Amino acid sequence: MKIAMIGTGYVGLVTGTCFAESGNDVICVDTNEKKINDLKNGIIPIYEPGLDGLVKRNVEEERLSFTTNLEEAVKKCLLLFIAVGTPPGEDGSADLQHVLNVARGIGRTMSEYRIVVDKSTVPVGTGARVKAVIQEELDRRGENIPFDVVSNPEFLKEGNAIDDFMKPDRVVIGCDDVRTGELMKELYGPFVRTGKPILIMDLASAEMTKYAANAMLATRISFMNDIANLCEKLGVDISQVRQGIGSDSRIGYPFIFPGAGYGGSCFPKDVQALLKMGEQNGYQLEILEAVEAVNARQKKVLFNKLKARFGGDLKNMTVAVWGLAFKPNTDDMREAPSIVLIENLLAVGAKVRAYDPEAAKEAHKIFGDRIVYGKKVYDVLDGADVLVIVTEWNEFRRPDLEKVKNLLKNPIIFDGRNLFEPKKMAQLGFEYEGIGRKQ
Ligand code: NAD
Repeated sequence: MKIAMIGTGYVGLVTGTCFAESGNDVICVDTNEKKINDLKNGIIPIYEPGLDGLVKRNVEEERLSFTTNLEEAVKKCLLLFIAVGTPPGEDGSADLQHVLNVARGIGRTMSEYRIVVDKSTVPVGTGARVKAVIQEELDRRGENIPFDVVSNPEFLKEGNAIDDFMKPDRVVIGCDDVRTGELMKELYGPFVRTGKPILIMDLASAEMTKYAANAMLATRISFMNDIANLCEKLGVDISQVRQGIGSDSRIGYPFIFPGAGYGGSCFPKDVQALLKMGEQNGYQLEILEAVEAVNARQKKVLFNKLKARFGGDLKNMTVAVWGLAFKPNTDDMREAPSIVLIENLLAVGAKVRAYDPEAAKEAHKIFGDRIVYGKKVYDVLDGADVLVIVTEWNEFRRPDLEKVKNLLKNPIIFDGRNLFEPKKMAQLGFEYEGIGRKQ
């Protein structure tokens, strides 16, 4: 099939490349000229494991190309995917300007039947708005061209995006036309050969499914963080509690690790957008209000622990930070808990030295030269007063702890991801504090 992927960000580039990998002809479109030029020159603008090689192969096989020319892509492709950003607007609702700009562009340029597939995460009713905008442009041109609008939310996780897309738990298609539904099934057939379902539903239900999924996952995280904080007060070990509840098949293990709060480009903005949807429709989503409030508090948990331990002394301290990205295996810094920690530390006059295997470039856009960036994992420890672990990159899980102890001025670690056993750390001579762990 001929596919235009409009918006070549994390989602667009990964899904476009994976569609090409399964034999489709894909044109990735973006308004960002630098990004498109880089991609044409083989430079991948994001860090996502495995993406590099996959893009290269499909470009070489001439199944994948990049352009800033929307009109050309609309002309050549039957399936027009919208995968542009839907960032939070000032009031927390999803900002749809990019989605609607693309819809307008499609309406202005299409000359025969097209299927417009919304892959961006958008509030209920957006599919109908996309339809209306395209129709408006067609009417303005005096054209009577049929088209369909489909919702196909994306559930991939950054850091594991290719695997998630290639082997999804399910594919959700919101679609009112039977023939279009069949075509979408055909497109996704190669990805669900192990029998995972392709769920065809109405458009609005598909739009809501994406928000409900993210809100549920965010709820699990905030719930565990809340319980972890109470465990600390009661001298209970959250790690044992986590195993005790995760082993219950009704609960399961995913998304119940306590930590320094959720971040990223999706959970925070999608929870906010869902809250706004509730408000706009006269319904208060009280659980999600609490999820958001608990998360805001949790993002400060590491700073509060440091403050409780060192008080005013923080002003003259050098804090080493391991991990800047909002989670491992990505360079994405959007809403990362590290931002809250580091901004708070800088505000009280502490010096920060940070190391992240992939996110230093993105972090520099936020902190500039206000912090020092280590090139290697141990660089930042030399002479630092304390180490704080914010992101659970694999290389932080089994470090040379003797070396860590020798490099740090004081053998003190605050661990926002519970990577180590408190008892063992005490035996090794560390003052060690995790989240919700029994000391
Ligand atoms: P992103 O910011 O990484 O990429 C969006 C891209 O769209 C940018 O390259 C931007 O230049 C481009 N763009 C903006 N306006 C455009 C236009 N008019 N024409 C062409 N390109 C345009 O965003 P993302 O993380 O890929 O997210 C895209 C959507 O997918 C969002 O709605 C997001 O909520 C959703 N989503 C994201 C993830 C994720 O893990 N990142 C997962 C599932 C769903």
